[in-house]
Amino acid sequence: MDHAARRARAAERCRQAGFAALLLAPGSDLTYLSGYRMGSSERMTCLVLANDGTATLVLPELESSRAASAAPDLAQRTWSETADPYALAASLVPPAGAIGVSDQMWAAFVLGLQAALPGRDLRVSSEVTRGLRMRKDPAELTALRAVSAAADRAYLRALDLEFAGRTEREVGADLAALLRDEGHDEVMFTIVGSGENGASPHHHTGTRVIRDGDVVVLDFGGTRAGYGSDITRTVHVGDGPSDDAIRVHDTVRRAQEAGYLAARTGATAGSVDAAARAVIAEAGYGDFFIHRLGHGIGLDGHEHPYLVSGNDELLEPGMAFSIEPGIYLPGRFGVRIEDIAILGVDGATEPLNVVDRSLAIVR
Ligand code: ZN
Ligand code: ZN
Ligand code: ZN
Repeated sequence: MDHAARRARAAERCRQAGFAALLLAPGSDLTYLSGYRMGSSERMTCLVLANDGTATLVLPELESSRAASAAPDLAQRTWSETADPYALAASLVPPAGAIGVSDQMWAAFVLGLQAALPGRDLRVSSEVTRGLRMRKDPAELTALRAVSAAADRAYLRALDLEFAGRTEREVGADLAALLRDEGHDEVMFTIVGSGENGASPHHHTGTRVIRDGDVVVLDFGGTRAGYGSDITRTVHVGDGPSDDAIRVHDTVRRAQEAGYLAARTGATAGSVDAAARAVIAEAGYGDFFIHRLGHGIGLDGHEHPYLVSGNDELLEPGMAFSIEPGIYLPGRFGVRIEDIAILGVDGATEPLNVVDRSLAIVR
């Protein structure tokens, strides 16, 4: 991945949008523009990308050698334990224009920078970076394909797990192990929503013992080489799912297909949500689809574009996003089907998750 070229494009966008600089804390924007990955700590680290393209990593002295090996082409300005990192960062910011700080920069750092840059207009860096990060380059698309294929393989193997008589947490731990075994570096989440728990889309996998006859939502993902997977399939424990379970599952499946058909170059993000939602409403479950249809994915598990009503953003080739309709019947069960898809140059969507979407029967 050519980080210098990305920084040049980001600087150009800064100039177009009237930004003097981006000040990026550890996080996905910083990783996108430098390849450097690190966690946040109480010591301020930030990449200052000035609108002339100059990039300088401001960081504590003790992080210097680690950063130099991870991002050798980045200039560094280090600060010692007793120095003022904010004044140092501020000294690298051109005098005119807005300043973009990372969307997820800690408040303490934002306030420190604000004090060191009095009177300046602080904005979120995603105003500049989202347009770049939404359109994945070929290397990113390769990474996304690989991590989704790994999640597909993990799901296939999960079908052989024992469900009945075990807790959600035990099944979740097995899912996590399968993700790692199939090539994930990190597991970010394993949602196992059995029976009535499946009616809560972000159910916290817990101690409920899964029973024969349960509908179970499995939503799991992680990262490989920094890029995320996110897949949901809904399974039934034992033979003979109820007519209701079959009807609800079939509705969600048709809603997802409608989403795929609507997700084309030039369509608005909101119109894709509407197309899937219409199928669910027509089947009488409109009140039970209680979240947006999907989210972008890349270095972050949730990023732009968001497929949500009212979002007029136009879909473009290279965008990667989830299509994940669901129906949640309180006190009974939930069904969700989720794939990651990318918009190809031919204008149509390419599913990255292709593993069987039917209501699988598990033990
Ligand atoms: Zn979610
Ligand atoms: Zn998911
Ligand atoms: Zn998702």
